[in-house]
Amino acid sequence: MHLLFYRIFLTLSLSFLFYSCQNTEKKERFYVVTTTGHIADLVRNVAGNKATVAPLMGAGVDPHLYKASLSDLKLLQSADIIFYNGLHLEGKMGEVFHKLSRTKKVFAVSDGIPRDSLLMVDEENHIPDPHIWFDVEVWQYCLDKVCKEMILADPENKEYYLANAAKYRKELNDLNILIKDKFQIIPRHERLLVTAHDAFGYFGRRYDVEVIGLQGISTLSEYGLNEITTLSRMLISRKVKAVFIETSVSEKAIQSVIEGCKQQGHLVKIGGSLYSDALGAANTPEGTYIGMQKANLKLITEGLK
Ligand SMILES: [Zn+2]
Repeated sequence: MHLLFYRIFLTLSLSFLFYSCQNTEKKERFYVVTTTGHIADLVRNVAGNKATVAPLMGAGVDPHLYKASLSDLKLLQSADIIFYNGLHLEGKMGEVFHKLSRTKKVFAVSDGIPRDSLLMVDEENHIPDPHIWFDVEVWQYCLDKVCKEMILADPENKEYYLANAAKYRKELNDLNILIKDKFQIIPRHERLLVTAHDAFGYFGRRYDVEVIGLQGISTLSEYGLNEITTLSRMLISRKVKAVFIETSVSEKAIQSVIEGCKQQGHLVKIGGSLYSDALGAANTPEGTYIGMQKANLKLITEGLK
């Protein structure tokens, strides 16, 4: 009887011990909240199984206009680490990050980028273009920044984070070469990318593609008849066959340009819907940074042919 009791006691204690271990392990995973899906994907690649990563902005969400909801604020409050883009991409969340940074680890991934690698949209007032992820080389500075902050938060796993970052850097380098190679095939004067808003400046600079966005750097800015007329004339004179819409921006502006061209007898097609400020749906290839870059590359190079 005594032995049976002892056995039951032992089993119970062991399962309790096992449960507590599991529980501790669970708690040891960092809870990281990011703004965009691009940053969430970057953090997942560095943090691996050491963190649970939750982006606030899903597929098709425009970060320029995004306002944190009450449930977002709760998520942010419960985060161990917060990564955001910075450079005013999240134009309506500046105050939220400012407040949170008093008590939490809050980092802008763009802080890792050397000043001379930033693209200025307004040189005089030093206003940089926030769409940094479109230059795969510039994005690697953000990879370094995420890796650095993960190591500072969790020095015990330094080698793990460094190995993950090195592996991902190799994938990014391969992607960078792929994009360069694909554009090399298209004659230079035909490399004209017309999109709904100015998200592709870094892309154009790195991969030698002329880029025109109908709306300004932020989707907040207005587009007018003047811009539409100028752009229609340009498309006609350069015989451009395709323009592109974006998953996170209304296609109203770009439709006006197509209509403008049509009235003057020049047919322009929509080359497809590009991923600009948001990734594709989770659990699809376009739900990752590399996948969305590849999807864009395919649409742009096929549209411009
Ligand atoms: Zn944008």
